Amino acid sequence: MDNSSVAFVPTHGPISQSIKNESRLCDSCPLVFYTSVLTRRRDDYLKDSKYFMAVALLAAKRSEDPNTQVGACIVNQENKIVGIGHNQMPNGCDGKLTWARDRTKDNKHLYVCHAELNAIMNTNGADVKGCSMYVTLFPCNECAKLIIQGGIKEVIYLSDMYEDRDEFKASKSMLELVGACIVNQENKIVGIGHNQMLNGYDDEEAEDNKHLYGEI
Ligand SMILES: [Zn+2]
Repeated sequence: MDNSSVAFVPTHGPISQSIKNESRLCDSCPLVFYTSVLTRRRDDYLKDSKYFMAVALLAAKRSEDPNTQVGACIVNQENKIVGIGHNQMPNGCDGKLTWARDRTKDNKHLYVCHAELNAIMNTNGADVKGCSMYVTLFPCNECAKLIIQGGIKEVIYLSDMYEDRDEFKASKSMLELVGACIVNQENKIVGIGHNQMLNGYDDEEAEDNKHLYGEI
């Protein structure tokens, strides 16, 4: 028997009938040897894009926000993870600030650091230029600024549940203007382009609400 192409699997493990059909018994071993199993690639392995989004989803699980949990995962051009983040209060503020959402009162929006910001800050010095960001919720306008200024070229998102809000419309406008590639889990929406955002932004359009787009 050629051991280089042989896998052995305990007989008590879950084994599909198709694998059993391809197997043959080894006379000298209590385990069953399954030939050809190791020579063929698994078809149901976790693909890169699903894996990186799964990492973002796992990061979201760390959020203490009782209403919205978001995770982000930054991946470089070698498909290596360089930063992970979730929405959380600034360092040292955990448990000391409100998670209330009512913007007319003391509320979380004044304090919370979004997942995208934290992922960018958690890179341990790695450059995010040219990277892709997997994020469970489409980035707001503030995070879009960080993404663009950091040189991240691609945003892959899972949910766009706030697409009707001005902050998210502005975010999409900025990302599209700079040619960042906005991708959902199924379809590419915009092609990859250069990353020149605030500098090249059209002032006339920005008159609508400058606070959404750039520094005032
Ligand atoms: Zn944000």
